[in-house]
Amino acid sequence: MQDLTEPILELIRLTSTDLPPDVETAIRAAVEQEQPGSAARGALETILTNVELSRQNSTPICQDTGTPIFYVHFPAGWSIRQLRQQIEAAVVQATKKSYLRPNSVNSLTDKNTGNNLGDSHFPTVHFEEVEGETLTIDLMLKGGGCENVGAQYSLPNTALGAGRDLAGVRKVVLDAVHKAQGQGCAPGILGVAIGGDRGSSYLGSKETLLQRLDEANSDPRLAALEQRLTEEANQLGIGPMGFGGKTTVLGTKITSLHRLPASFFVTISYMCWAYRRRRMTWADGAASYA
Ligand code: SF4
Repeated sequence: MQDLTEPILELIRLTSTDLPPDVETAIRAAVEQEQPGSAARGALETILTNVELSRQNSTPICQDTGTPIFYVHFPAGWSIRQLRQQIEAAVVQATKKSYLRPNSVNSLTDKNTGNNLGDSHFPTVHFEEVEGETLTIDLMLKGGGCENVGAQYSLPNTALGAGRDLAGVRKVVLDAVHKAQGQGCAPGILGVAIGGDRGSSYLGSKETLLQRLDEANSDPRLAALEQRLTEEANQLGIGPMGFGGKTTVLGTKITSLHRLPASFFVTISYMCWAYRRRRMTWADGAASYA
């Protein structure tokens, strides 16, 4: 089997030290929405300056390089065991090169492993075999602050008057944004899963964040709700970093999962402005990145 350690190391470097173009475009558009001289505009301009410097210097765009979450889609014939070893080797090298901050802490002893390896979930790697000859690896670096303001609701929620329908989904998502109050480093991106069980709903809410901001939802009902939620979240006045302003959320992504008749979960994974995600495609013995 081919050794992908070096191409995966480059995937980590790119992910940690630059923003995807669609995210940077959205932040640049948001700057124009904020009043000249306002704290909101200043925060967004600082973010953009920081991103440019990080890109030039190959340094992380945020000091918290987050949880590395890999999604590997591999053709038949690849070894999951070896792919995991190569990913872990790349993570260790990336930590040595300071593309990643040592972030893996034993929950019982508080000891940091120093190399971003931990139990079988650190780094997190999801594997799925696919047809064809092309292997892809998506990497998301999910910051801790934004992970802390993620939320899960079980509908109906009588306190919020949220029933088991899209109107109820809207209410709980806006409640989560309101409760966050800019913590988790707004402007954020909302990854929402409707349905599933408690675990799969969280997985789905993160996976939906792998889509580009300018990608339209193929379900027109969800596309309309995504747009409405983004607009309404931006009317809450929370703004970048909670400084007030018009940009609380850069976008919303929603997926719908099958569920048990007895359960109706809505899960919100909140992604901060440091929306670090990249894809590596391995085909014909060469890597390309998007
Ligand atoms: S939430 Fe995001 S932007 Fe804020 S400190 Fe964490 S990684 Fe950085």
